[in-house]
Amino acid sequence: MDLILYAVPGFFLLIAIELIAEKVRGTAYYRVNDSLTSLATGTINQLINVSKALIPFTVYVAVHQHFAIWNLSASWLNWLVVFVLWDFFYYWNHRLGHEMNILWASHVVHHSSEEYNLTTALRQTGTGFLSFIFYIPLAIVGFDPLMVLSVGALNLIYQFWVHTQHVGKLGWYEWFFVSPSNHRGHHAQNTIYIDKNYGGVFILWDRLFGTYQEEQEDDMPIFGIRGAVQSWNPLWVNAQIYAQLIKDAWRTKHWWYKLTIWFRRTGWRPPDVEEEFPIEKNELEHFSKYDTQVNAWLKCYCIIQYALTATVGIYYSLFAEQMSLGQSAMVVGFVLWATFSIGALMESKQYAGVLEWIRLGVFVSGVVSLMSPTVWANGLLIGIALALPLLVFGRWQNPPSHSNTTVMMETSSKQ
Ligand SMILES: [Zn+2]
Ligand SMILES: [Zn+2]
Repeated sequence: MDLILYAVPGFFLLIAIELIAEKVRGTAYYRVNDSLTSLATGTINQLINVSKALIPFTVYVAVHQHFAIWNLSASWLNWLVVFVLWDFFYYWNHRLGHEMNILWASHVVHHSSEEYNLTTALRQTGTGFLSFIFYIPLAIVGFDPLMVLSVGALNLIYQFWVHTQHVGKLGWYEWFFVSPSNHRGHHAQNTIYIDKNYGGVFILWDRLFGTYQEEQEDDMPIFGIRGAVQSWNPLWVNAQIYAQLIKDAWRTKHWWYKLTIWFRRTGWRPPDVEEEFPIEKNELEHFSKYDTQVNAWLKCYCIIQYALTATVGIYYSLFAEQMSLGQSAMVVGFVLWATFSIGALMESKQYAGVLEWIRLGVFVSGVVSLMSPTVWANGLLIGIALALPLLVFGRWQNPPSHSNTTVMMETSSKQ
């Protein structure tokens, strides 16, 4: 049972409530382009999880079968212990995700937003393939695989609500638990907050291992990373740091650096590459958020297309097991293409409109002809048909102006 999938309606309900709070309180924590990119990476993450779900789970089951020391039953005490232990291993998984180049390349996705709202919680990596290794000790101790799967999901679901600026400090709660306030620090790029507050549910680990930082009134969090991704393309958001690492490993003349760059401290670059291809660092005082402007029609079009894409993603999550490989590939391809071209539209790329027309033509006719017509497929068709005029008006009635108010920042390090 995919607990996270069943939590999705709750996620969207809370996002709706936060949007109402935004209106009532007159805050500006949301931007369409940023939020759609967060949601798109979340959708891709879910798709990949569904597609590869059984691989890490199978490894865990195999280790549990062959190496478990005890056979721990599902008593309430064991549930409690495994819940706490999961969070302990999560702390180290998360900490190394920040401190090692190759793991940061994956985890960076979650930190790539310069906003902080509930959609940021869903901005999740598509390449967290190695994470499960951190939890293998639980298999060796003897916790049932299904228990471990459940507490992992519950841990992630807990973390959703802390991604908000509408909740202040929570008194005694801050001592023990991850909260909106201390997790805001985790998402900040101000020097005092870097590499702090790694806990998932319990902040106690940070207090214990010296990585705790309280949110400071006189140094409020500036969200994002020093090496801003500067893109609404969810595929590039996932690939950027890998690309930088591959480029650096390729360019360095030393074999030792080619082999070890991946496992060194986040931001480390081979000295010869650093000298020949420096990446400029920008001071935080000159920070401005990455932004692009498109007209209201196009914004509406992107929102509708994303909603349809998310629907396809949920459909896939529910029925992937009954699909052939070809059908799965087609659905996954549709979602990846859709999120890519929505991002390109929001960046006003020249090729974005063409990408959209091809996508709608090829994939919609493909999906409809190969899959038996269902409510889902019909809904998708109707949605696209209704949204198309927005694309037309969005592109030709009022050509979008491209205003990129970014500053160039160092791209491989958040230091
Ligand atoms: Zn993190
Ligand atoms: Zn977070």
